[in-house]
This record gives sequence, C-alpha cells and structure tokens, in this order.
Amino acid sequence: MPCGRLCSEALGLVIQVTAHGWGPTYIQPMSTTSDRAAWIQGNSARCEVTPEGALVQWGLILLGAPGVGKGTQAELLNRRLRACHLSTGDVFRAAGSRPDCEQSPAIKEALAYMRRGELVPDSTVWKMIRERSGCLHCRGGFILDGFPRTLGQAESLKELMESEGLKLTAVVNYTLPFNEIVARLAGRRTCEKCKSVYHVTERPSKIGGKCDHCEGKLFLREDDRPESITVRLEAYERSTAPLIEFYKKLGLLVEVAAQGSPDEIFESTFTQLESRRVREVAHKALVAQEDRQ
Ligand code: AMP
Repeated sequence: MPCGRLCSEALGLVIQVTAHGWGPTYIQPMSTTSDRAAWIQGNSARCEVTPEGALVQWGLILLGAPGVGKGTQAELLNRRLRACHLSTGDVFRAAGSRPDCEQSPAIKEALAYMRRGELVPDSTVWKMIRERSGCLHCRGGFILDGFPRTLGQAESLKELMESEGLKLTAVVNYTLPFNEIVARLAGRRTCEKCKSVYHVTERPSKIGGKCDHCEGKLFLREDDRPESITVRLEAYERSTAPLIEFYKKLGLLVEVAAQGSPDEIFESTFTQLESRRVREVAHKALVAQEDRQ
C-alpha cells in the first residue's frame, strides 16, 4: 500500500500519480516522500512511511500572503529535502471533507471562519498543533506551511520547540506584489478528486474544466472567491506580516521573491537555504576549534 493512501482515501484526498510522474507544472498536494497520516488525522494515526536518508533535519517555516505559492514550494522542498510538508489549511480542508456527523463543533466553527476567509481562532489552531506536535520530531524534518499565522501562534510554537529541544533552520518569506497575488488566487482552480492545482490563464488544464490527471471536475475554492480574497489578504497584513519582524530578530528570516516559474522560485529558495546551512556549519566548526584551543 503506497504511503498515505489508506488515510487519504478515507478523507477523499487520494492522489493519483500518473505514469509521467510529477510534471513541474502540475503540483500535487500530497507528498511522495513521506506519509502525512499523523499530520492530517492527528493523534489517532501513525505514518506508515517516514522519510529516509535525510542528511539534514530541516525545520522550516514558510511565510507569505495567500497565493504566493507556499504550498507548491513546500511540495518541491519536500521532494528535495525529504522534510515533511505540514499544512494547517490541509488539516482543516480534510476535516471539512468528512461527513457532517463526524465533525466536532470546534471543527465546524473553524470551517465557518475558513469559508469567510478569516483566520481560525488561535486556541483552536493551537489545540490542533498540540495534537500533532509529534510531527515536528519527524526523522526527515518538517516544513510548516500556513502556521504560524499570528504572533501568538509564533510565540507558542517557540515555547513548545524550546521545551522539546527542537530548532528551526530558517523561516522563508515569499514576497509578491498585491495585484499579482489577487490575479493568482482568483484564477486558481483545484481538482475536486486529486486536488491538483491549475490556473485559468497561467496553467490551464488541457481538457477544459477537467483535471489532466484524473478528469475530476475543477472548482474554485470557496476561500478563493473575490469576497474572501480581500478578507484573507487583510487578515494576512494585520496578523501575519508582523511575523516577518519576529523571525528577522531571531536571525532566521530568508527573503525570496515569488516571481517566475515554480521551479525558478524553488531554485532560488534552495540556493539561499543551502548557503545559509553552509555558513552555519562553518561557524559551528570555527566555534568548536576555538573551544579546543
Ligand atoms: P491555507 O490553505 O494555508 O491558505 O489556509 C486556508 C484557511 O485555513 C485560512 O484562510 C484560515 O481560515 C485557515 N487557517 C489555516 N492555517 C491557519 C492558522 N495557522 N491560523 C488561523 N487560521 C488558519
């Protein structure tokens, strides 16, 4: 059984990898290099496959307004670095695809915030993270996408990581002009079956309105509707933008312009992360040498 398939089927999130593999333009939301059962389902689930062979355990956070392409970059990073892609939005969407009777009142309330494009309250998000904190210890490392989104969440995460002896490697902030963000979000279309992502003008499907991989119907995410886009971008400016300062002060911030193709943006991210890692390794070696003298 391929990784993630069992739990994903139950949640209606099955991903079909075609014989052509992963095309650079069709970004699939589920990872091929790790199972995300524990992340998507929480405490009750265990990942059947954890990433092997990761030389460095990366601890990354991806920041950036909705629509800058954090999810796409997280998937590309996952394939190169093996670190597990942990998206809080995916957890809410998976919970939302469960039958109504299986949704707790807290999840129903969270989904109502999400549909309006508003942020889910910190207390609900934090409960969800606590239930999944084991994922931060993943052998392959982790890439947090969509969390933290407020200063409160960032501070809680910092405390949790310190108490569990975990370290962040870097916080990548993707930047893009406002009008480009709106155009990306409003034109985004998602396959209702396999969740592949397209764009009406930039990355259209070959068969109009249908997914090239599984022929599922393409739909406009509720929170990508024009009325929700404005609310989401305002929420980003108000709550998430201050995180940039927070992580800059901690010396963890890496800025990447989210312009160009996904592969180009990925290369720019990877180059910056690698040079940062090399600098850190060199610095540690220097400190160790000084200590010995
Ligand atoms: P995303 O897929 O990351 O854009 O998240 C989709 C929606 O889920 C957001 O617009 C919020 O309503 C909700 N959400 C996801 N992560 C968080 C978070 N860390 N804090 C608050 N709300 C969140």
